[in-house]
Amino acid sequence: MRVHKYQSIFAWVNQLRLSPSRVNDFSNCPLLYKYRVIDQLPEAPNLDAERGTLVHTVLHDLFESPAQLRTIQTALHLLPTRWQAQLELKPELAVLVTSEKEWLDRATSLLETYFNLENPTVFEPTHRELHLEHDLSEATYLHGYVDRLDVAPTGEVRIIDYKTGKSPKPSWEDKALFQLRVYALLYWKETNVLPKLLQLIYLGDGNLLKNSPSESDLIATEKTLIQIAEAISFAMESGEWKPRKSRLCDWCSFKPICPAHN
Ligand code: SF4
Repeated sequence: MRVHKYQSIFAWVNQLRLSPSRVNDFSNCPLLYKYRVIDQLPEAPNLDAERGTLVHTVLHDLFESPAQLRTIQTALHLLPTRWQAQLELKPELAVLVTSEKEWLDRATSLLETYFNLENPTVFEPTHRELHLEHDLSEATYLHGYVDRLDVAPTGEVRIIDYKTGKSPKPSWEDKALFQLRVYALLYWKETNVLPKLLQLIYLGDGNLLKNSPSESDLIATEKTLIQIAEAISFAMESGEWKPRKSRLCDWCSFKPICPAHN
């Protein structure tokens, strides 16, 4: 049984599959990673995550329109239909969202914040939901989906990720940028082009977090990923998945069964 579960996170070529989210899970708490990735325990829908999905979908579909129609009016026109589609996929959300008006008002506010930060009528996104992948080693496959990747006429590349939460305190900015450094590493490995700008757009408070990655930043990111892959492999072999208590435990679905809290 244990071997069977391990097979689920290894590709058929017996590689460990990593993404920024899963790396984050393991870094935050190895036991959380085990529950989520290896045991694949079910988790109740998270309304913050669902709100993020809704706003991401609207922003993604907004760019389907010709540039001059990428307005707040178009975005707000898309919102109810995208919400209905999400509800059809996850009917249990209807119970969790107690006031649909408040839910859509909050999503509207996030979209309005987006239009305060960017004017999508004046540029063309090159890629949306771009899948990037690379074999970090024979044993580790790394991949991720980029919200948006823009290539300027000059060839300069910027990687964009939308966040529906608030921007982090300065001491957490580096951790927040890790995800985009992984995407930058993947893009660099795939194309040999070093992205010029990484940009996190925080719709929760209207702040931008920008960073220009250097080659040494991305090499350091790759080393960190390799260390984490080794730590995961060690945990699989030893069966030791240590819980790591932090303030994130308050949002963890597995708190009721976690030995660190029982
Ligand atoms: S409750 Fe905390 S310590 Fe336990 S699995 Fe979740 S994140 Fe880890």
